[in-house]
Amino acid sequence: MATILVFSERDEVAWQLLGRAVELGREMDLRVAAAALGPADLRGYANRGAHTVYTSKNEQLQAFEASVYAEALSQVAKQAESTVILVGSTRRGKELAGRLAQKLGAGCITDADSLEVKDGRLVCTRNALGGATVATQVITTGLQVISVSPGVGEPVESPETAQVVEVELALKPSPVKVVARSDKGQDAVDIEGAEVLVCVGKGLNRQDDLEMVEELAEALGGLVACTKPLATDEKWLPEERVIGLSGKSGKPVLAICLGISGQVQFTVGIRDAKTIVAVNQDPNAFIWQMADYGIVGDLYEVVPRLTAALKG
Ligand SMILES: Cc1cc2nc3c(=O)[nH]c(=O)nc-3n(C[C@H](O)[C@H](O)[C@H](O)COP(=O)(O)OP(=O)(O)OC[C@H]3O[C@@H](n4cnc5c(N)ncnc54)[C@H](O)[C@@H]3O)c2cc1C
Repeated sequence: MATILVFSERDEVAWQLLGRAVELGREMDLRVAAAALGPADLRGYANRGAHTVYTSKNEQLQAFEASVYAEALSQVAKQAESTVILVGSTRRGKELAGRLAQKLGAGCITDADSLEVKDGRLVCTRNALGGATVATQVITTGLQVISVSPGVGEPVESPETAQVVEVELALKPSPVKVVARSDKGQDAVDIEGAEVLVCVGKGLNRQDDLEMVEELAEALGGLVACTKPLATDEKWLPEERVIGLSGKSGKPVLAICLGISGQVQFTVGIRDAKTIVAVNQDPNAFIWQMADYGIVGDLYEVVPRLTAALKG
């Protein structure tokens, strides 16, 4: 029986995707399979909705290299008779999806942020034209490779335990030789999964004033995120905190936007927030077009008062 195959080099993203794959598989009459390759937490895949979990002890998979993983996944996909392959749209996943599609002669969509079945076909939506619009796209080839943004599915706890199949993969050594590794200084916060995001932009005057923003985030049990200029130009926060087209997207229950004009390249990252609150001194800022609530005012006056009110 044909399958829908799920892979991500990040286990938690793969488990989210499996949750969506179970629903899609039901509608498309496809069995759900997962590829748990390399250092994946194989046990964690046991009850996530996959009928079969493919694994391999091949040494070439110990470190992620996109060309090697693309070859490995193409072999797994053939064995699993996969017609749809969903890859987590992480930075690595996006490269992998293109390479895999090329190997399989499949159609490919990257960065899908929704997947629906219509008339037996998978219909994807994704940002287009720099986030100014949403494109609805369908792959017309029989084989489909789609990289899906993290957070599109929810992990499931299935009563059925997946069958584990160890596959023999013929893989050539990676043509990429890693000569050194250095820490990128990533902080380990989960912006994409945060319930509350306190986002700050160029309305902030000095790096030291971030303390005031952090206090508000702490009072709300949330995380501080930022617009791109604060991370890439000012370097006040790590790039992992950037929200938007070149950063991360979240689905928080609450997003607070402080001193942010609301350019589309930023707002694509928070438009799925349940409630958006803005503080901006410009009554004509774009951010008001998407804010549910807001205060036209100086963030230096508003933020300490908000924090004090929350702390009671
Ligand atoms: C290809 C491309 C990709 C991009 N990707 C991203 C991305 O992923 N994420 C991203 O954020 N940007 C991205 N950008 C940049 C984006 O276009 C905007 O330049 C950026 O989002 C603006 O950041 P900002 O709102 O902090 O700054 P500004 O646009 O300068 O806005 C600052 C706001 O603060 C308000 N303000 C000033 N002082 C105060 C105060 N004391 N109290 C209250 N309000 C105050 C002002 O009224 C203004 O509205 C990208 C751009 C390009 C071209």
